[in-house]
Amino acid sequence: MITIRSDASEMAEALAAGTITSVSLTEQHFEQIAKVDGAVHAFLFLDHEGALEQARAVDAKRVNGETLSPLAGVPLALKDVMAQKGVPTTCGSKILEGWRPPYDATVVTRLKDAGIVILGKTNMDEFAMGSSTENSAYGTTHNPWDLTKIPGGSGGGSSAALAAFEAPLAIGTDTGGSIRQPAAVTGTVGVKPTYGGVSRYGLIAFSSSLDQAGPCARTVLDTAMLHEVIAGHDERDSTSINLPVPQVVKAAKKLDVKGLKIGVVKELQGEGFQDGVLNRFNEALDELVNAGAELVHVSCPSFDYALAAYYLIAPSECSSNLARFDSMRYGIRIGDDGTRSAEEVMNMTRHAGFGPEVKRRIILGTYALSSGYYDAYYGSAQKVRTLLIQDFSAAFLKADVLVSPTSPTTAFAIGQNDNNPLAMYLNDIATIPANMAGIGAMSLPSGLADEDGLPTGFHIMSPAMKDDLMYQVGGTLEAALLSKWGAPLLSKAPDLAVNS
Ligand code: GLN
Repeated sequence: MITIRSDASEMAEALAAGTITSVSLTEQHFEQIAKVDGAVHAFLFLDHEGALEQARAVDAKRVNGETLSPLAGVPLALKDVMAQKGVPTTCGSKILEGWRPPYDATVVTRLKDAGIVILGKTNMDEFAMGSSTENSAYGTTHNPWDLTKIPGGSGGGSSAALAAFEAPLAIGTDTGGSIRQPAAVTGTVGVKPTYGGVSRYGLIAFSSSLDQAGPCARTVLDTAMLHEVIAGHDERDSTSINLPVPQVVKAAKKLDVKGLKIGVVKELQGEGFQDGVLNRFNEALDELVNAGAELVHVSCPSFDYALAAYYLIAPSECSSNLARFDSMRYGIRIGDDGTRSAEEVMNMTRHAGFGPEVKRRIILGTYALSSGYYDAYYGSAQKVRTLLIQDFSAAFLKADVLVSPTSPTTAFAIGQNDNNPLAMYLNDIATIPANMAGIGAMSLPSGLADEDGLPTGFHIMSPAMKDDLMYQVGGTLEAALLSKWGAPLLSKAPDLAVNS
């Protein structure tokens, strides 16, 4: 029997077999959202009409015997960073309130072409800056495992929607960890594909050389299936890679790691990592060894500087990217009463429209790029980036994939890091290197931490355009852990629909 707790791949099979319709599946998910989203607040906008229209269209095509894409008819939650034609798109910011894009992002076009039903837009840190969703201008999302805890960020809405069974598939974006860290703290799966593997056209830019859209789901296979829908060359994105998409679905089904070398990164564990996170990480390594993989220990010394370099490069690029929010073209406009100059209106709009974290980063980036400081800050950060790439190249000579815990801690309390941006930034210590080097990386659940019973994440990084390798390792580890646990990790999360 298919329920909202089924895997997306099972839903897809039932849809193909005609034992369930997309309309009924879509309605079941809207019912669950109605029950639990008051508490979780994963969604910023629900597109009842648009979703049901898409579902009806897929059902009709199926009745007509048309050949459909494997995930046709399965519902999905879309991070509000993606432009979707005619649908409110805020990027978690007040400045974009009321904006309805006149076009679809390439990711959205591909989802629609595949018959995937878009339920609505999910909450996020403003302009994807943050690790907790607390920087959203529209309120915080709550972690379904414990509503007093953060769901990670910036894509906390997408991951919380998966963990609360509001959607079986979701889209995230990852500039420094925003797909993987939310996956880790919600007990779900999230993948940042190789940079250039998925089009950025229509993805509202934060830091263009780091931003990458990717698939999120509750299993490695579901994530792989969604990956194949959204990936591939796009001439509208000049950084899109014109090569065949790695065969990630096949890799996810392999369930074999014999002969693969797993590189454990020395710099991404130890100090600052919670004991329970490290315990589950080490047990997962044992599972991989039992499955026939070989562990090798690698050192990537420049990883110690990745976070510092990221917090110069990302703000620098954002200070330039966010200059387009000038009150003239999109969203809100403040103070335009006929007495003020365009510059004054821009000032007032940006003052009212951007939140504190976005302002902090624009100021930091503008400073780092200013003449006299450019070489010392931005230039040095770019040099660190080169060193990181060299560290990865050397490590991938010794290992097929590299692994670490995804996030140093489990979900922290909402409000805990309110006055401490530096503590917030440390969440991405293990995820940032992959963005800086443009390689692919995945997080999947590795169990619950001893201290607090909250999910921990296992992080797998694979060389550029070898995304299949992380799916192969992730799929094998997931199967081993599943047989050890006897049930998916999410079956241990509280059922939020019971008392609603
Ligand atoms: N937490 C990191 C930041 O705030 C990463 C965000 C992201 O990946 N979008 O920049």
